[in-house]
This record gives sequence, structure tokens and C-alpha cells, in this order.
Amino acid sequence: MSLQGKTALVTGGSRGIGRAVCLRLADMGCTVGVNYVANPSAARETVQSIENQGGKGFILQFDVADSDAVQEAIKAMAAEHGNPEILVNNAGITRDGLMARMKEQDWDAVLDTNLKGTFLCSKAVTRGMMKKRWGRIINISSVIGFLGNGGQVNYSAAKAGMIGLTKSMARELASRQVTVNSVAPGYIVTDMTSTLSEEIQEMIKAQVPLGSLGKPEDVAACVAFLASEESSYLTGQTLHVNGGMYMGN
Ligand code: NDP
Repeated sequence: MSLQGKTALVTGGSRGIGRAVCLRLADMGCTVGVNYVANPSAARETVQSIENQGGKGFILQFDVADSDAVQEAIKAMAAEHGNPEILVNNAGITRDGLMARMKEQDWDAVLDTNLKGTFLCSKAVTRGMMKKRWGRIINISSVIGFLGNGGQVNYSAAKAGMIGLTKSMARELASRQVTVNSVAPGYIVTDMTSTLSEEIQEMIKAQVPLGSLGKPEDVAACVAFLASEESSYLTGQTLHVNGGMYMGN
């Protein structure tokens, strides 16, 4: 599955799942733009790891929810490295709380980063992909978008929204051979899940037929397939990477 000569942009590539995706795409020969918002040292570590394994990467700081910043950053990237042929919309946050007590700002922040950010970044790269008549957009949704979860009305709405967005974008871009798919991870060991207590982690494991939480690399492997030539007849789909905890579609 070679991506030699191609350029990718991974939002939230500085840590967790995004970092594993960056390393995997770089390993396939891609030059990878590592986006972050607030954590430059983590982004530098990702680029360093890419270089240590013989790949090419560069850093792009911007907030995916800021329309002007997204456009400027992708314009600058296109001028220096070429328009990305692969976009992984991975940047995401949680602001959990029961709906009755959830602050409007926490609803807005999660919808803006997870869902609007996906729209803004996709919009900014699609013209270049359509011109080339080749492109891959991969949206990182979540099992919570399918199951729902008490305390996460904002997050589950955003992640379910990404599935509708994926399907509509897939229909709009298919005639130009640009595919759009989602990956819906279950519980993966990253900073995002590190705050879960031991007890909660045990409860989650009990619901996972494969018996463990996932690794960022498990998600990256699916992204790698969707980014590759081998997935060219797949669009509008969701790959569930959750150890079997949810098997629907
Ligand atoms: P982490 O919290 O470990 O990392 C989040 C990443 O997103 C960081 O690189 C962070 O950058 C970046 N980021 C956050 N907000 C913005 C923003 N506004 N603009 C640009 N970048 C931003 O998360 P995970 O690796 O766990 O999650 C990655 C994705 O996978 C998310 O979309 C998440 O919802 C999804 N997911 C995760 C699961 C899990 O169990 N971990 C399960 C299902 C889905 P910085 O370093 O600068 O803060």
C-alpha cells in the first residue's frame, strides 16, 4: 500500500490517534502535515518520530474550528508542499456533562471542533482534490455516535453528524474519484481516555468481545487502508474499530 509522492494533512496529528495515523501514512511514503492547536512540543515529537523512521513531515498550527485560520493554513501548505491529496479529519475534543447541566459553550465547543472543523477542512482541500481527480477524505467519528452515551450529548451528536456529512460529501465528490469514508473507533488508549478510572475501564472491557481497549495503531491501520489505492471502490462507508463492542452499521 504505497502512498509515495502523495501529501497528507492530519488534523490533531500531534497526539494519540492522530500521531499514529501520521506515522503510518509517512511509513507508506506520504509527506505528512501534522496539525495541532495548542501543543507545539507534541507536534514536534510527531515530526521527529516521522523523521526517525525515514519519512517526511511538517507542522501546521491552526484551530480547525476557525474558518480563516483553516483557509490560510491550507493555502500556505498548498504553496509549499502541494494541496493535500489525503485529509484525515481527526482533531477532536470532549466536554462531558449531563445534558440538564451542560453549558451552551460546551455544546458549541464540541460541535465546532469535531463537526464544523471537519466541514471547514474538507471544504478547503476539495477543490485541489477534484482538479487532480484523486483524493481521500477520512473522518474519525466514534462508536459513541452510534450508541449514544449519557454525559456526552454534544460529543455523540457531533460524531453522528460526521457520519451524515461523510455520506453527503461522498455523493458530491464521487464523480471526481474523491472518496470520503469514516472510521469509528471504540475505546482507544490515548490522553482522551486516560482520565477514565480503573473501574470504568474494567466496565468498558467487559463490553468488548475482544477483551481490551484499542491502540491508536489499530485505528491508524484502517485509515491507512482507506487512504490507499486499494480502497478506491469504497466511499460513504464507516469502518468500526472497536473490538466488537458495536457490530451494527
Ligand atoms: P487526544 O485528546 O489524544 O488528541 C486530540 C488531538 O486533537 C490533539 O492532537 C489536539 O492538538 C487536537 N486538537 C484538539 N482540538 C483541536 C483544534 N481545535 N484544532 C486542531 N487540533 C485540535 O485525542 P484522541 O487521539 O483520543 O482522539 C482523536 C480523535 O479520535 C478525536 O476526534 C476523538 O473524538 C476520536 N476518538 C477517540 C477515541 C478514544 O477512545 N480515544 C474513541 C473514538 C473516537 P493539541 O495537541 O495541540 O492539543
